[in-house]
Amino acid sequence: MIPPSFDYHVPNSINDAIGMLKKYGSEAKILSGGMSLIPLMKLRLASPTYLIDINRLSGLAHIKETDGFLRIGALVREVDLEKSALIRNKYPLLLDTTLVIADPLVRNRATVGGNLAHGDPANDHPATMLALEAEIVVVGPQGERKIPVTSFFTDLFTTALSSDEILTEIRIPIPPPGSGGAYFKLERKVGDFATAGVAAQLTMAKDDVCERVGIGLTNVGLTPVKAGKAEDALRGKRIDGESIKRAAQLAAQESEPTSDLRGSEEYKRDLVRVLTVRALNRALERSRGGK
Ligand SMILES: Cc1cc2nc3c(=O)[nH]c(=O)nc-3n(C[C@H](O)[C@H](O)[C@H](O)COP(=O)(O)OP(=O)(O)OC[C@H]3O[C@@H](n4cnc5c(N)ncnc54)[C@H](O)[C@@H]3O)c2cc1C
Repeated sequence: MIPPSFDYHVPNSINDAIGMLKKYGSEAKILSGGMSLIPLMKLRLASPTYLIDINRLSGLAHIKETDGFLRIGALVREVDLEKSALIRNKYPLLLDTTLVIADPLVRNRATVGGNLAHGDPANDHPATMLALEAEIVVVGPQGERKIPVTSFFTDLFTTALSSDEILTEIRIPIPPPGSGGAYFKLERKVGDFATAGVAAQLTMAKDDVCERVGIGLTNVGLTPVKAGKAEDALRGKRIDGESIKRAAQLAAQESEPTSDLRGSEEYKRDLVRVLTVRALNRALERSRGGK
């Protein structure tokens, strides 16, 4: 399929890009990796009149820790996360996530910023960012604003980004010692979107007491789901097989899957339960220094 024709613009700076977004309004779309947008255009599910290609903007491709945050620039590609020693050594939840996204061809182009800005509940990073309590940094005509990831996904394929704003950075609080995270996803075949996925991040205090916990669910609702009741069941409590089992049941109840070709609603709910147990157990192991 061939997409409808469009005008192609390459801004020189973020301000230049924002000016174009302001000028062209809802007829314009940012182009990052193009791995979601171009297929949609080819299927004629999206027909932007103007494409604003931000790939040549500088200052958006960093992965670094400063001022208490891991900062991931909007143009960081999945392959950059995979190759980063910092991510490999310190952020196993992010590494788990990137490794199960699509295939290497897609991961060479797809950006973390695009994965979030697209607002697809089937994408894998949203659940992970919910578990990590990330902040999304966006820049628009009024300057910069930071949106907690819990307020970022507002509806199906809809985010808190305005049409004249660009997502520039993702900020993740640096996990303290005693932290660990994991992502588990079931897919029908390698490269597929999740039938369901679960991201878990834990910070443990003394005597196996859970100090901090984040649990995010993939593709079991109109938006990515934060399993708040499951988190509440663990926070401040001793983590053991029983409390993990209880939290997993709550996560399954909080999920809102629908039946489709990937499985029935009941099957997906049970999958959330099983994957939550696995993700929490792996996160716990990693909080103790395990791989
Ligand atoms: C075959 C295939 C399999 C896939 N499987 C998976 C999978 O298993 N898991 C998964 O998570 N993803 C999967 N994806 C999606 C892939 O990861 C997407 O590329 C990603 O979700 C979007 O990133 P992108 O950089 O390609 O964004 P683009 O396609 O360029 O943009 C997507 C949307 O976000 C907007 N946008 C992009 N960047 C910004 C920005 N910085 N500021 C504001 N708006 C922006 C665009 O305007 C557009 O509306 C798959 C894609 C393909 C083609």
